[in-house]
Amino acid sequence: MTTRSRRDQLQDNLNRTREAIVAASSDAGRASDSVRLIAVTKTFPAADAAALVDLGQADLGENRDQEAAPKAAELAAQGREPVWHFVGRLQRNKARSVASYAHWVHSVDRVPLADALDAAATAHGRRLNALVQVSLDGDVSRGGTPVAEVEALAERIAAAPSLVLKGVMAVAPLGWEPGKAFALLAECAEKVRSVDPAAAEVSAGMSGDFAAAIAAGATMVRLGRNVLGEREPMA
Ligand SMILES: *Cc1c(COP(=O)(O)O)cnc(C)c1O
Repeated sequence: MTTRSRRDQLQDNLNRTREAIVAASSDAGRASDSVRLIAVTKTFPAADAAALVDLGQADLGENRDQEAAPKAAELAAQGREPVWHFVGRLQRNKARSVASYAHWVHSVDRVPLADALDAAATAHGRRLNALVQVSLDGDVSRGGTPVAEVEALAERIAAAPSLVLKGVMAVAPLGWEPGKAFALLAECAEKVRSVDPAAAEVSAGMSGDFAAAIAAGATMVRLGRNVLGEREPMA
């Protein structure tokens, strides 16, 4: 059970966050319904995720399968069916689990992972929306494919029968000015649209930099702390 006060707190946070998205969209001369909020529930209990769904927040994000799989199962058992977005680094051996509950995978960053997700989605009889995660600074140890390889990976995803190429995703590199990072991501988004013009989603922007991401064309912002509150430091 979520206490009444926690629910109120989440409602307030959601309202404030949605207003901030509307303001950033309007500053950028964009329609606010062109930006989709993904509430990143990682490290927060399933009860918080359930409360968000009840408050009308249908898109939820997670970054670790070990945490996401049981949370998704718990909500499904309650009859709550959010749209789950997997946004974290993903090992191939987790593809089968992730493909069983996720509707979107934002972090497809290499061909073997794309192939494993495609095979897993096929085995589950599902289709998965896939974004090419880009490593804007080329430090692939933090996830993402190098800028030079974005198009080839997009082609591989577009050819995969159970994956739907939807666009690009990135995290602004540490120490980079967000505007510079998201401008480079916009160039990568253009390359992906050259593979499939319908693959126009740009997943960019976290709690600290989402206004800059919206200014640069983000269609999905992934916000954790703004909606849920500060997290305990992760192990
Ligand atoms: C945790 C996380 C977010 C949300 O970060 P906040 O700073 O809490 O908004 C967004 N994207 C990814 C990939 C994450 O892991």
